[in-house]
This record gives sequence, C-alpha cells and structure tokens, in this order.
Amino acid sequence: MWSVRGAHDRVERSPSTVVLLYHRIGMPRLSSLVAGQYVLPRFFRAQLDYLTYRGWNALALPQVVELLGQPDGHDCNSFAVTFDDAYLGVYDHACPALADRNMTATVFVVVDRIGGVNEWDSTAGDVREPLMSAGQIREIAQLGFEIGSHTLTHPHLVALNESDLRREIVDSKKKLEDIIGKEVLAFSYPYGEYDDRVLAAVAEAGYGYAVATRLGTVQSDTDPFTIPRVNIRWNTVGRLLMRKIRRAERTRRIRR
Ligand SMILES: [Zn+2]
Repeated sequence: MWSVRGAHDRVERSPSTVVLLYHRIGMPRLSSLVAGQYVLPRFFRAQLDYLTYRGWNALALPQVVELLGQPDGHDCNSFAVTFDDAYLGVYDHACPALADRNMTATVFVVVDRIGGVNEWDSTAGDVREPLMSAGQIREIAQLGFEIGSHTLTHPHLVALNESDLRREIVDSKKKLEDIIGKEVLAFSYPYGEYDDRVLAAVAEAGYGYAVATRLGTVQSDTDPFTIPRVNIRWNTVGRLLMRKIRRAERTRRIRR
C-alpha cells in the first residue's frame, strides 16, 4: 500500500543493510590496549533499541546473505549483529539482551581458545579476557545464535604456510561442528586480513560466507566472502551510531 512516509523515504535515500561488528561487552578495562572495544551492556541495549526506534529491522547474518544477488531485496533498513572472538561478556550481557528482544546474532569463535583467554592479544601485551566455554557456545547455538569460525588460534592468515592456513580454516570448522552439532557456514578473518589465497581456502573448506572488517554497507552485489561491517566502539551510540552508518554508506558511493 502506498504511504506518504514510504514515498518520502525513497526520495531521501535508498534503504541500507549493515552488519555490526562488536568485540567485548562489559565494563571497559582502562589498562587494555583496545579499551575502545568495550561496549557497556546498557550502551549495547541502547544501540539495539535506538535502531529499532528508528525503524531498522533486525536480521540474522544468514538472512543478509540470502538478500545478496536480489536487486530489490532491501526494502527497508536492516541490521545484523556479529561478535568476533566469543568473549564471555557477550554470553553474559549481549546474548540475553538480544534474546529479550527476539533478536539473534552471529558469534565468531577462536576454536582452540574456547574456555580460555584472548592469548592472541595478551601475548602482545593486552589484558587477559575470558572467552566462552564449549558448553556456553552449545547453549547459545541451541537458542538460535549462529556460531561461526574465527580460526583455531587467531593468526595472521596471510602470513601462514599452506598447511597451517588449511588447518586454521578447515579444522576450526570441523571442531566447531562437533561442539554444536550443526554445520558451520560463517567465517570471520582475524584482524580482517585476507588475500586471494585465504579467500580460496575459505571457499574450498565449505564455508558459505565470510565477514571482513572494512567499513561499508551490504549491497546486492556484495561478495559473500568479504562482507563489510560497521565496527562499534564504546561510544558509538545514538547519533554517533547513525553517523557511522552514514559514513559506511558514503564509502560505497566513493568506491563507485
Ligand atoms: Zn578477532
């Protein structure tokens, strides 16, 4: 049905789909090298509610992927939520907030660090942060959260030899599937780093799609193996959140 508001929106700008990238949910630890990566639980809830209030539709990442290749697939603004590294704070604070709102998310797990800490950061001098256990990962998978692979050990994939590259990509998928009892289709590149060799290895391993860290919105012609995201930091709330989404939209226009 024709509506004044709908017609107005179409004139103003076409709808966007964004994939939000979060890392740590919880009280910021000021001694951390990446203190800006901590999002307070109440800020996280405020971000979800703000987008909902602005008329944005919450999707799961697989639904975003399904829209790819459909030129008219995006008829309203949509967002999907993703978490890299599977921090315990995500299980404690973010998953309940999402479930309360009938929303879901994708959690990317560093498989050989399950139940441990963020060794890839802490050996580089950052604070040690606890990660989800296998039981917690299984529990949220059963609640409908998507579980994706973020490799075995969070290496710089582009620097690995062929056998280590395959091990990180193939074995992490198999091990995760054993834990959750479901096929794992989603992959997230550690540090957002990939090249042609990494892309080929991810596709050959049987993943269906992969997320990057470069800023951008999802378009009908977005490559499903380099899906851009919008990185959310501690202060990305309210107008700042919308400003960042607008910047992601402009990134696309400039590249064209
Ligand atoms: Zn990571």
